[in-house]
Amino acid sequence: MKGMMMHRPLKIADLITFAAENHPSAELVSVRTEGDIHRTTYRETAGRIAQLAHALKALGVTEGDRVATLAWNGYRHFELYYAISGSGAVCHTINPRLSAEQMTYIVGHAQDRVLFVDLTFVPIVEKLRAHLPDNLQIVVMTDRAHMPETTLQGALCYEELLDGQPQEIDWPDFPEDQAAGLCYTSGTTGNPKGTLFSHRSTVLHALSLCVTIPKVLREGVRILPVVPLFHVNAWGLPYAAPLAGASLIFPGGALDGKSLFDLMDGEKVVSAWGVPTVWLGLLNEINQRGHLPDGFSDIVVGGSAASRSLIEAFEQKNVNVCHAWGMTEMSPLGTQCNLPPSMDEMPLDRRVDRKQSQGRRVFGVDLKIVDDNGNRLPHDGSTPGHLYVRGNTITSGYFENEEASKPVFDAEGWFCTGDIASINPDGFLQITDRSKDLIKSGGEWISSLDLENIVMSHPGIANCAVIAVPDPKWDERPLLIVQAREDAQPQKQDILDRLAERVAKWQLPDDVVFVDSLPLTATGKVSKLTLRKHYSEETS
Ligand code: ADP
Repeated sequence: MKGMMMHRPLKIADLITFAAENHPSAELVSVRTEGDIHRTTYRETAGRIAQLAHALKALGVTEGDRVATLAWNGYRHFELYYAISGSGAVCHTINPRLSAEQMTYIVGHAQDRVLFVDLTFVPIVEKLRAHLPDNLQIVVMTDRAHMPETTLQGALCYEELLDGQPQEIDWPDFPEDQAAGLCYTSGTTGNPKGTLFSHRSTVLHALSLCVTIPKVLREGVRILPVVPLFHVNAWGLPYAAPLAGASLIFPGGALDGKSLFDLMDGEKVVSAWGVPTVWLGLLNEINQRGHLPDGFSDIVVGGSAASRSLIEAFEQKNVNVCHAWGMTEMSPLGTQCNLPPSMDEMPLDRRVDRKQSQGRRVFGVDLKIVDDNGNRLPHDGSTPGHLYVRGNTITSGYFENEEASKPVFDAEGWFCTGDIASINPDGFLQITDRSKDLIKSGGEWISSLDLENIVMSHPGIANCAVIAVPDPKWDERPLLIVQAREDAQPQKQDILDRLAERVAKWQLPDDVVFVDSLPLTATGKVSKLTLRKHYSEETS
């Protein structure tokens, strides 16, 4: 027998309509590419989103069309998220740090109709223009006074598009599984692959975020998404924050420790979200100034593993660290490590130990670990296996790419994350490594994350990476690459001694290489692929 309740489609536009009514004065604050700070509210923004949706219609955008963005975190990018999906079109966020070839590929693959570009990225598009489809309409995200001189023929001005459009709209109805957003992963091998989010998956993810991280996703809290709107939906914040009534402080393009500190201090940011490399920069600034930004008490860190030393440094300063894990294909949140109240009284050391894990699953995401043959492994906290996930916010296949989709699902339809992990009986997930970053030495696996964690506890080290390099006798051996702190000169033997106290001799890196900086991926993580290529060539 079926239940007898109404069925209304879950729609993204309802989130902003709700925010405009229920949290009208919660703020969106943006560091603009024009150079100033812009302030608005959810109520004002809902009106501008309506104007933008009318403008898209006037441009000929219809349901299912892909409309691309190449932009920093700011209010206009936020407006695009809602106006595009609300109109039934697909908001395709492009990562400006992708290579020219990758960008050309994805604009072509997505068949984008319109491309909205922040001022900063106009030169990138000018260079690419000849390789992009002729009929791609370009819109520069600024007002008339700041329109640049550009070789982009027929480029339109964002604010002029909005001018004169009505501030009200009746959002169209469509099924909740209608496509709403498109995001391509960097693709370490082969071409980038697109995850196509639906209205349903996005709204469910927003609800799940609010339930999972209620301490900061609530009215009155000011949140800084350093995690970009151009990748992984800024971890769902553009949807969850309006729903919860939290304000968003958008940092624009200045993501160094000093700029972030000043913005957070001035805007009384409570909670800041981003990848570990960003927090290393902020931590440095905090240490130099000797105090925290005013009001700051919480970070969400994910995208790659947060080291023990990073977690400890913030926790010692009474900043709560929520270590989260997920991936683009999961909308992205999978697990998070805010500790349950039963652990409140734990000594700091043990809390930090626990927070090194990626935490417990969020509602709606099922986890399993399996061996090489697909047999389920126990959740005993010590047996690592291939991590698979299942749920309503997880991809069911890559956009227009059957070939890439097939190998990532098992016979039961679970999605293979490519991560190796263990799960303890209380449900805490511990990522051992990305399967492609594990080091296989003489038939035994070495976790690069374990070694990096120990190395990062050295006070003279700013960042590091352990990678596999080919070895004629052992197949692969670990190589440690270290970026020292500006004011420090850590010694190789000292680092190796520190490791030797904690790991077996055969797991010790064969060598330590010092570099001025580590290469980063388009999403701000240390690029082990680049390092592997470089050092494999050097050793062969
Ligand atoms: P990209 O590779 O393009 O950056 P994602 O952001 O989707 O794409 O990356 C997802 C991957 O990042 C995960 O599969 C995992 O390997 C890694 N990751 C994310 N969060 C964590 C975390 N907290 N700890 C360890 N690894 C993480």
